[in-house]
Amino acid sequence: MIVMEHVNKWYGDFHVLKDINLTVARGERIVLCGPSGSGKSTTIRCINRLEAHQSGRIVVDGIELSDDVRQIEAIRKEVGMVFQHFNLFPHLTVLENCTLAPIWVKKMPKKEAEAIAMHFLERVRIPDQANKYPGQLSGGQQQRVAIARALCMKPKVMLFDEPTSALDPEMVKEVLDTMIELAEEGMTMLCVTHEMGFARTVADRVIFMDKGEIVEEAPPEVFFTNPQNERTKQFLGQIL
Ligand code: ATP
Ligand code: MG
Repeated sequence: MIVMEHVNKWYGDFHVLKDINLTVARGERIVLCGPSGSGKSTTIRCINRLEAHQSGRIVVDGIELSDDVRQIEAIRKEVGMVFQHFNLFPHLTVLENCTLAPIWVKKMPKKEAEAIAMHFLERVRIPDQANKYPGQLSGGQQQRVAIARALCMKPKVMLFDEPTSALDPEMVKEVLDTMIELAEEGMTMLCVTHEMGFARTVADRVIFMDKGEIVEEAPPEVFFTNPQNERTKQFLGQIL
């Protein structure tokens, strides 16, 4: 579903991604972790071209990323993204946030887009908030709207960038539960998160990045109990 081969990226002189090789198969759940500044966000932002890489290949669902705008648009239709800070439109209601892209990008009739939006708002258990504005919701509710909004585009893969790290502790669980349900339904997921409980229960593989490199990659049961690399051990020592 996602293939990154020998991907390199620089910000000016700074080599932020160093020969990244990463694959996510259909139905796979991958957790990407690593210290602050290691390049996790940059990696996933390259997958839907919020950032451009300078060498190597990125292929999503058979479409290779290039400067071709049509290909970028095609990939963005397949890829749902959820950010740390929700990134909802504050001047639109929850329902309007969810129907905007289906109506404007997929040219879906408004009634149909609203029906689909209500379906996903029910799935994330906040259909009663549909006519509120994001500012009237708790952080956990806003993040569930962001997940529902991404699902309304019927993506083939979901990318999460620390979806719970801006939330108060009591709201983390409701968002993680939503993500676990998605995983159980077979969604292909690439999640940047430091929620190691989530990684243990949901991930097929855990990938550890440090200083722009993938340093270690293993199933969670191996990753947490028998990490091979010194940098992984040090990282786990700090967060567990
Ligand atoms: P965090 O856990 O703090 O979110 P991260 O692993 O997601 O970290 P990135 O956001 O991918 O890290 O950033 C990787 C490195 O690239 C950091 O050193 C960051 O300062 C740098 N960087 C990120 N965005 C830019 C930019 N637009 N211009 C220049 N440098 C950047
Ligand atoms: Mg980040």
